[in-house]
Amino acid sequence: MEINVKKLLALKKYEGSFEFDYEPSADCCLIPLCRIDGPVKVAGKYVLYDDDSVGVTLTLNYSLSGQCSYCLEEAKKDISYTTEILYLTEEEDDNYIYDGVKIDLDPAVNDAILISQPNVLLCREGCKGIDVSNK
Ligand SMILES: [Zn+2]
Repeated sequence: MEINVKKLLALKKYEGSFEFDYEPSADCCLIPLCRIDGPVKVAGKYVLYDDDSVGVTLTLNYSLSGQCSYCLEEAKKDISYTTEILYLTEEEDDNYIYDGVKIDLDPAVNDAILISQPNVLLCREGCKGIDVSNK
């Protein structure tokens, strides 16, 4: 998904919102034996500022499913994550850069998918793992 900044400026649409479905690549899921179920729902807002910087709020919603990291039972979790991004035309700190014309949102969406993932996927809160006590 792209934001065509030049076009929006010409149309004087300095603020707006967008929504799209993003198909993550398989390596977007870092948890072993798990996957991202279906598309990642992305919704967001943008603001075009006078100095050519663009503020973007991204909200991601998606489901993780697979095997519990502790006991290998089936597990599922819905993730919701919001991040604020500032796009600049010149490199500065950790901000994203764009060419002043178009913003490609895919790298930021990919980053947000990675950041929003838990380290483990559990079948339930407090799963103790496989019972090996052998009573
Ligand atoms: Zn479990």
